[in-house]
Amino acid sequence: MNAHVHPLPPPPAPTPSLAASGFPALVLNADFRPLSYYPLSLWSWQDAIKAVFLERVNIVANYDRAVRSPSLEIKLPSVVSLKTYVKPSTHPAFTRFNVFLRDRFSCQYCGARDDLTFDHLVPRSRGGHTTWDNVVAACSPCNLRKGNMTPAESKMWPSQKPFQPSVQHLHRNGRLFPPNYLHDSWLDYLYWDTELDP
Ligand SMILES: [Zn+2]
Repeated sequence: MNAHVHPLPPPPAPTPSLAASGFPALVLNADFRPLSYYPLSLWSWQDAIKAVFLERVNIVANYDRAVRSPSLEIKLPSVVSLKTYVKPSTHPAFTRFNVFLRDRFSCQYCGARDDLTFDHLVPRSRGGHTTWDNVVAACSPCNLRKGNMTPAESKMWPSQKPFQPSVQHLHRNGRLFPPNYLHDSWLDYLYWDTELDP
């Protein structure tokens, strides 16, 4: 036992500051669904306030925190909705991110979630194309093992036949990966139409 150790007094609480990254606003379309689920459509509080003053959005819910100017005080919006409906695109772009999202960020051969890369079912050297129905998420070890072989040759079959996903499909998958920060006021808009557990 060390009798000379004295507990240190607690450090003074830091002055709360409005970090640019703090107090994000969830952005809903005019139909009150999030503009995007994954990544979740969020604006910085500065952009949200700006949009309020430009009358592009309605405030749906607020944080307790307010910002003040000499002439007015406004609570930081935690949820805003666009006044004009933005039509979501029907076909998601063929991007690396969206392929991972379709495949739920897991290797389609072994289910691993680490060290993900892409595998061409029919290898490019064998005439396979880089398209929705020939590219799957795969971990590096599986990718290496499959090498230059077709699924039949390697006896490695993906857990689901690759396909071109709809926007709704990607939204559904995106909700499986909620962001680290979820304000209470967002939950009604993120999960109100998900299926309930029996
Ligand atoms: Zn794998």
